[in-house]
Amino acid sequence: MEKLTLQEIQNAVKGEIILKGKSEKFTKVNTDTRSLKEGDIFIALKGERFDANEFIEEASNKGATLCIVNDVNFNKDNIKEETSIILVKNTYKALMDLAKYYREKLNLKIVGITGSTGKTSTKDVVAAALSQKYKVFKTKGNFNNEIGLPLMIMSLDNTYEVAVLEMGMSNLGEIHRLSEVAKPDVAIITNIGVSHIENLKTRENILKAKMEIVDFFKSENTLIVNGDDEFLSNIKENNFNLIKVGINRNNQYWAENIILNEEGISYDLKEKSSSGIKKITLDMLGKHNVYNSLLAIACAIKLGVAYEDIIAGFKNIEATSMRLDFIRGEKFTIINDCYNSSPDSVRAAVDVLVNVKCNRKIAILGTMRELGHMAYEAHRQVAEYAKEKGIDYLFSMGEFKEAFKEGFGEENFKHFNNLEELEQYMDNFLQEDDYVLVKASRYMKFENVVEKLQKIN
Ligand code: ATP
Ligand code: MG
Repeated sequence: MEKLTLQEIQNAVKGEIILKGKSEKFTKVNTDTRSLKEGDIFIALKGERFDANEFIEEASNKGATLCIVNDVNFNKDNIKEETSIILVKNTYKALMDLAKYYREKLNLKIVGITGSTGKTSTKDVVAAALSQKYKVFKTKGNFNNEIGLPLMIMSLDNTYEVAVLEMGMSNLGEIHRLSEVAKPDVAIITNIGVSHIENLKTRENILKAKMEIVDFFKSENTLIVNGDDEFLSNIKENNFNLIKVGINRNNQYWAENIILNEEGISYDLKEKSSSGIKKITLDMLGKHNVYNSLLAIACAIKLGVAYEDIIAGFKNIEATSMRLDFIRGEKFTIINDCYNSSPDSVRAAVDVLVNVKCNRKIAILGTMRELGHMAYEAHRQVAEYAKEKGIDYLFSMGEFKEAFKEGFGEENFKHFNNLEELEQYMDNFLQEDDYVLVKASRYMKFENVVEKLQKIN
């Protein structure tokens, strides 16, 4: 973290210093006393089941030099003399306000990524594309909300040249608030799907919510989108730069001669303003990563990275786990995509599975969440898609058995009520050189399915 004074922090969070400690050495922002270290700023967040204001004394004892609280719930005698305490009305807002102030002090470029699916995957590809020219920071894991994003910003410092930050949302107004804090120089919208339609009702609203990423744009800022997306293709250039990428030739950058196989993807990159062709290869799987990489290329070019450096950067993509990981066993291969699920990402994963050469193609699918009134139909449709594309067996878990069965048909369909049933069945069922895709929304914890399958293998 860059140096901040107590006064600066007080101004930024608009709080009252109720205790002034001896130390002004602030090294990191932390919201969890379990990982707190000496010199940390502890921000006490209050959730439904917990209230971190109860841990102020512990934080001080562990060496916190500042606690930002919204409740005076401590005994002064138990606070070490190094520790200052600032009282605010709302500690969540304080975290956002502090990050907003801090971002202005940073002398680096920020790339903000939002979209219905593929934010984390795109973040990894963008970071790789930039990595040869710049010292790049990227969001850790999935820290993309109104707690995660400010924490990511607070962990930056001016040794970094570019930060690639994921920005998530589940309702209108959230991306607006995150953008006010992050002020992205370049923004990317991956696609407009149906995730969160439960809250937002229509895809038009989802588009509106994602477009909040340009709310604080200046004329020199750039928005990069998937120009083949039904909704994003209609966006017009406003008082900022707009770049569309895709497979259709009307985009500024597009991909031709796409080859998808088990090793990865390759394609010829074409650009509207040039007759040249660049060969792109990367070891990520699936057509969706063609899009993710096109977004990354446009972003890297915008930030002045040479093609050779982008291509070299793509050789070292550090992908986040549980997103289409191939786990090769003695007998069969598991495609672990159990981090999360949505209609678009199931289709993307099915496309990957249909492209492998193997004995039998098996999909184990669980519930996709947050689809509101579209839920039954969405499950039916992905099952139908799996059938049409040539998936041999569909096994389901969760509450959408009927929808999956209707879409896939009864033949080669089976539903399991629990992990034990699945394990027992799979033990006899799986054969040499089968491929098994495992995918569901996060709450179903399908990593347990992967674990069971690994035991059999
Ligand atoms: P979250 O909202 O949970 O943070 P995310 O937007 O970060 O999700 P990822 O974690 O990158 O998305 O990917 C989620 C799933 O979608 C994975 O299964 C991944 O393989 C798939 N996926 C990645 N990119 C795309 C894309 N452009 N289109 C469709 N599916 C994608
Ligand atoms: Mg993510």
